[in-house]
Amino acid sequence: MKASESQQADLLSLSNLDLEITRTRVAIAALTSGEAFAALRQSQRDAAASLIESRNQLDSVELELSRAEADLKLVEQRIDKDNQRLNQTSSSKDAQGIQAELETLKKRKSDLEDFELSILERKEQAEAAYQVIIHDKKLIDDELATKESENEAQIIKLRSGLDLLTQQRNQQASRIQSDLLELYEKKSSRGLAIGRLVNRECGACRITIGATALAEISGLARDEVATCPDCQAILVR
Ligand SMILES: [Zn+2]
Repeated sequence: MKASESQQADLLSLSNLDLEITRTRVAIAALTSGEAFAALRQSQRDAAASLIESRNQLDSVELELSRAEADLKLVEQRIDKDNQRLNQTSSSKDAQGIQAELETLKKRKSDLEDFELSILERKEQAEAAYQVIIHDKKLIDDELATKESENEAQIIKLRSGLDLLTQQRNQQASRIQSDLLELYEKKSSRGLAIGRLVNRECGACRITIGATALAEISGLARDEVATCPDCQAILVR
């Protein structure tokens, strides 16, 4: 195939634009996949699960506390009632019975107060743990939000770069003769379609061309399209 040296050089520029477009697409795909945040998203899910668990623990301690408070109130009411009965009774036998019951109730009251204190201690611990988890989760949420918005900005930038590259590519392609462009596109579907011949090395496959093949290529007219004997890419001399 015949193509002027400037056409061949234009085709090489087109190939460089195509490479840049491919690299940009790969970069956009990697950013879009969000793979970089997989670990952070897992941490966020773990933190959300811990938060629920911690909230449940706190709720259960609070429930226990309200039950203990209700029990204590009942005992206190009973003590008040017994004291009233004690003041009103004139029977010493009844008074003895009431006093015995009061002793039992006071012991019960003291036990319940101790129990309530122990629950309050556990509630304090559960609250502290809950606050720590809220704090940690917020750090993760904030970090993820920042990284996602940076990622989004990067994608937007790359996409606008890709638009520009595509325009340049189409302009460049319109300057190239159709049979050469067709050959390039056919070869592109199989791999790198074009490379510059530098120091006996093919710019596409990087293989050093043997002396015989090199002599053949060198013998071709400058406007004859040469191809690499190894990778079949168009060789720009
Ligand atoms: Zn080659």
